Amino acid sequence: MKTLFTVREMQAACRSLRQTGSLGLAPTMGALHDGHLSLVRRAAAENDAVAVSIFVNPTQFAPGEDYDAYPRRLAEDGAKLEAEGVDLLFTPSVEEMYPSGATTFVEVAGLGDRLDGASRPGHFRGVATVVAKLFHIVHPDRAYFGQKDAAQVAVLRAMVRDLLFPLQLVVCPIVREPSGLAMSSRNLNLSAAERDRAGALSRALQTAARLVRDGETGAAALRVAMLSQLSNEDGVVRLDYAEVVHPETLLPVADTRQGALLAVAAWVGQTRLIDNLLVEALPAERPQSASLPEQIEAMHV
Ligand code: AMP
Repeated sequence: MKTLFTVREMQAACRSLRQTGSLGLAPTMGALHDGHLSLVRRAAAENDAVAVSIFVNPTQFAPGEDYDAYPRRLAEDGAKLEAEGVDLLFTPSVEEMYPSGATTFVEVAGLGDRLDGASRPGHFRGVATVVAKLFHIVHPDRAYFGQKDAAQVAVLRAMVRDLLFPLQLVVCPIVREPSGLAMSSRNLNLSAAERDRAGALSRALQTAARLVRDGETGAAALRVAMLSQLSNEDGVVRLDYAEVVHPETLLPVADTRQGALLAVAAWVGQTRLIDNLLVEALPAERPQSASLPEQIEAMHV
């Protein structure tokens, strides 16, 4: 594995790899866990070469958010990626990615202000900008993202469409701890007690998922179920949002029959966590969602 620090070196290395085959990219902020590695493995299975970026992107953090506290584990991350057979690791400095005087940003209007975009103004502007830069540097054939960040997926899909990026965006399922907790680099900042409390998010989704499995399609009922589960956990977590939205527009839906995203965000101590469950639209004659039992099973709650 080659580790590259500058845009110029990375561009040259990617250009050379693309001459001999396809190239997959998994953008990350590091402190890698099995969720990240699931993206890397999928990229390795579907491409001739794999590039991973590790960059804690300052523009997607608002002042007062956890940019400084965000975990950084570059040595361990490098070893994990080497073991996966990754070809290129790109770990640029902030100055490389944002040249002095940089004032150009990518804004996905509308979508970028929904869910996490509503709670974290400017967050998706930062995400879209850095991902667009990475796409320009790497020119991947396929780029890999996690369903864990469902709103990010919606924003980036729109960006790829609108800015005509010639690549395929591949979305990988949420990888969870045995407890059901969605894996996240931020889990490293939780105490043992907070880690238990963080289970409230997947428990809320599990409660709603059981209702869906039993035939409930009303968004209001599902939202109430999530909220009441989370309010039972009052004092355990501080709710940011619990919503039932369209997976592409992120706008609230009245029912889940055409497919829906059940999304929650909550604070556990100083740490903000997110989780979600995708309810797929299926033809009326078939059960609601083939993947739902697997997602419920994965939560182990
Ligand atoms: P991050 O380092 O948090 O920016 O995440 C980098 C990529 O890994 C994003 O596309 C995330 O959605 C994805 N990812 C993070 N956690 C998980 C998880 N538990 N399961 C699947 N993908 C994940």
